[in-house]
Amino acid sequence: MTYKVGIPRGLLFYEYYPLWKEFFNELEVEVVLSNKTNKEILNKGVSSSVDELCLPVKAYHGHVEDLKNKVDYIFIPKIMSVQKREYTCPKILGLPEVVKNSIKELPNMIDVHINLSKNNFNIVNSVLEVGKYFTSNPYKIMRAYNKAINKYKKYNEMLVNGVNPIRALENYDKNVDFKKLKEKRDLNIMVVGHSYNIYDDYISMNTIRQLEDQNINVITPEMISLEKVNYYSKKLPKRMFWTFGRRIVGAAFNAIEENLVDGIIYISSFGCGLDSILVEIVQRESRRFGMPFTLLTIDEHSGQAGVNTRIEAFVDMIKWRERNEDNFSTHG
Ligand code: SF4
Repeated sequence: MTYKVGIPRGLLFYEYYPLWKEFFNELEVEVVLSNKTNKEILNKGVSSSVDELCLPVKAYHGHVEDLKNKVDYIFIPKIMSVQKREYTCPKILGLPEVVKNSIKELPNMIDVHINLSKNNFNIVNSVLEVGKYFTSNPYKIMRAYNKAINKYKKYNEMLVNGVNPIRALENYDKNVDFKKLKEKRDLNIMVVGHSYNIYDDYISMNTIRQLEDQNINVITPEMISLEKVNYYSKKLPKRMFWTFGRRIVGAAFNAIEENLVDGIIYISSFGCGLDSILVEIVQRESRRFGMPFTLLTIDEHSGQAGVNTRIEAFVDMIKWRERNEDNFSTHG
């Protein structure tokens, strides 16, 4: 019998999907994805979760609802840390418990702990624990994991070579020349924020595709190399212990200080504790270097028209500035 494992298309899906998909497939397990976020999924998520949660976590609940009757297992690992001495957001590390307490009649949940805060080798135990749901052969599990890591490396290689992660997710397992997926465009804009806010078309209100339609090249934090992120995030007076927050700051500092882009759009969820600090840090640095910056704060009540107007006004301002201001700072 082929088991079906459901992977909700939310939160760290945009970071690790290629890795887990390949891993499960190598173990002859079918992966079922929830549909792309839409009104119905978000509504289900909003009604099955508590009000205090941020938009992406509510949407995640909707993805679990979408999958729960279609699969034998649902994969919601407890991802506490993916980097030594660093952590994920408290809402992510408590995700399996939150979901279990909010949604009834769930299929079996694979909720292994992933905690690399002290030691990278802990991943081996976590992987073996996931694999044991489907085989008792540890060699088979580790072989599947090693193959999955190779696929995952290819995905990451596409990103740092300038392929937009949305396009990389669509193409990483095809035999395409990824250099051809890059297109030359007029203007460069960095879209920053947590991956689940910027790559989910419904949550981000299509920001990336909308910019691309205007012939703008979009750069995101995942497209900046780890070396650059590490180098620039060290400029903070104190080490940041949120892995994904550190990437946002390091990538944005890199783009600002090396003048890689013409402007920065930060997409943040209303009520996100981490973003209340990250936005401030990125905004201050933008101001210091005269880099145009705008913040889009989104929640379940945000409307497409308002977001479109903000983006259009921001792009117009950048173009006007390039034409008429000879690149002087708009901040005075
Ligand atoms: S970092 Fe912010 S947006 Fe992401 S899960 Fe935590 S609170 Fe929500």
